[in-house]
Amino acid sequence: MCIFCKIVNGELPVNPVRENDDFLAFHDINPKAPAHILVIPKVHVDSFNDVSPEMMAGMTGFIQEVAEAVGIKESGYRVITNVGHNGGQEVKHLHWHVLGGAKLSWGHFADADPKDFF
Ligand code: AMP
Repeated sequence: MCIFCKIVNGELPVNPVRENDDFLAFHDINPKAPAHILVIPKVHVDSFNDVSPEMMAGMTGFIQEVAEAVGIKESGYRVITNVGHNGGQEVKHLHWHVLGGAKLSWGHFADADPKDFF
């Protein structure tokens, strides 16, 4: 069982933010911003590659509620999902990083220089 399924099952403790029947939000254990929340579906989905449009519809509203609940809705935030090897996905259970609480930097994401590809 993956670690996020263990969190859903209550086998691993987290600092929760919000949950409903389908989704759970909790604080990232290694925060990259003053607010760094992870949003996951309670059923196992490997990554964004496998999410249904119906599940996405529910997650969209849930992420908006999470942003409001942690007080970053008006100041702004970033929503990221890493997919697969090149995306840097470490946990193979779909999750959205919701980052905010300060002005976020926007730098190079790739080890390679994008200019080398043009
Ligand atoms: P990713 O690299 O997109 O797969 O992100 C995985 C995220 O899960 C990382 O930001 C980790 O810090 C976070 N993480 C891993 N284990 C836990 C945990 N037990 N509780 C909270 N966050 C976790």
